Amino acid sequence: FTAIAPSPVTVISGDGIGPEVVAAAVRLVDAAGGRIAWEHADAGAEVFRAGVLSGVPEATIASVARTRTALKGPLETPVGFGEKSANVTLRKLFETFANIRPVRELPGVPTPYSGRGIDLVVVRENVEDLYAGIEHMQTPDVAQCLKLISRMGCQRIASTALALAVAQGRTNVAVATKANIMKMTEGMLQREFASAAEKYPDLETWHIIVDNCAHQLVKAPEQFEVIVTTNMNGDILSDLTSALVGGLGFAPSANLGNEVAIFEAVHGSAPKYAGKDIANPSAMILSSVMLLRHLEQFEAAENLEQAVLRTLEDGIHTQDVKVGTPVGTAEFTDAVESRLGQRS
Ligand code: NAD
Repeated sequence: FTAIAPSPVTVISGDGIGPEVVAAAVRLVDAAGGRIAWEHADAGAEVFRAGVLSGVPEATIASVARTRTALKGPLETPVGFGEKSANVTLRKLFETFANIRPVRELPGVPTPYSGRGIDLVVVRENVEDLYAGIEHMQTPDVAQCLKLISRMGCQRIASTALALAVAQGRTNVAVATKANIMKMTEGMLQREFASAAEKYPDLETWHIIVDNCAHQLVKAPEQFEVIVTTNMNGDILSDLTSALVGGLGFAPSANLGNEVAIFEAVHGSAPKYAGKDIANPSAMILSSVMLLRHLEQFEAAENLEQAVLRTLEDGIHTQDVKVGTPVGTAEFTDAVESRLGQRS
C-alpha cells in the first residue's frame, strides 16, 4: 500500500466576492475527499495597488509554473492602476489557449428553458483575436484594434473541441464564426475546423454564423452540444448560455494550455455583493469539480457535484435564483457539505 501524494494546486482568492466563493470551494473539495495541497497566492486589485503593473506577482507566477494547476477567483483591474488585466496576464503567460465553459440544466433552478435538457459546452479560443489588446489611435479621432488569428491557434482550438466531444461522448460540434464578413480571420477558424473535422467521421460537424448562433441559442438551445468559437464571440455567447440555466452564479470554466490548467467561475468580482454573504458559490464549486476531474480525482469530483445538485434539488439556493426564500453563501456551502457522501 502506498499513500497517494496530494496534488499541488495554486489557489488565488481574487477580488470582490472571490474570497467568499473560493473559500467555499476549497473547504468543499477537502471535505469531498479531494487530495490537494493548496498553495495560496495573490493576484488582482491589491497587487495592482501595490505597484505590480501586471497584477500578478512573481511568487504567484512561480507557484502556477510549479503546480501547473490553479483555482482562481475573479480579478479586477482597478481604474488608474496597472497596464492590463491580471486575467489576460495569466492566460498569455501560461498560454491557456482553450476556455471550456459547460452549462446544463440544473434541478431546482427554474428558467424559461426548464425541462428542455440543455447540456452544452462552449469552447472559446482564449489568447488571440481582439483580446490580444493591441490597439492604437490612428488619428486623434480614429481608434484601431488588431484582430489577430493564427492558423496554429485555429488548429489547436478546433482539435480541442473535437477531442472534447469524443471524450464526453457527444456527437455534434458546431463552429460559430463571422466568416461571411471577416473571411480571412473568422474564415480561418471555419476552414481549419472543417479540415480537423475530417479526422472525426463519427461526429456531426457544422458551421453556423455567430449572430444566428446567438438567435438559435435563445430559440432552441437543446440543438447544441459543443460550440467552438473565437475569443470575443465565445466571451459573449458563454455569458448568454450561462443565463439559459440560471445565470453567472452557476457557470464554471477551465482555461487549458499544454502545460497549465486554470479553473475559475465565468463571472467577475460582482463588487456590489462583496462581503455580504449573498454570492452564489456554485460556479466556483463546479469549477473545482472540473479541477478534480482534471487531476483524475473522479470519486471526489462526483461526490462534490452530486452534493451540489442535491442541495439545489432540495430547494436550497442563493438570492440569484428568483424563487422561494434564499440562503446566504455560508449556509448554502454548509448545505452542500452536509450532502457529501450521500449515495442516490
Ligand atoms: P460580474 O460577473 O462581476 O457581475 C455581473 C452580475 O452578475 C452581477 O451584478 C451579479 O448580478 C451577477 N453575478 C455574478 N456572479 C454572481 C454570483 N456568484 N452570485 C450571484 N450573482 C452573480 O461582471 P461585471 O460587473 O461586468 O465585472 C465586475 C468586475 O469583475 C470587473 O472589474 C471585471 O473586469 C471583473 N471580471 C473578472 C473576471 C475574471 O476574473 N475572470 C471575469 C469577468 C469580469
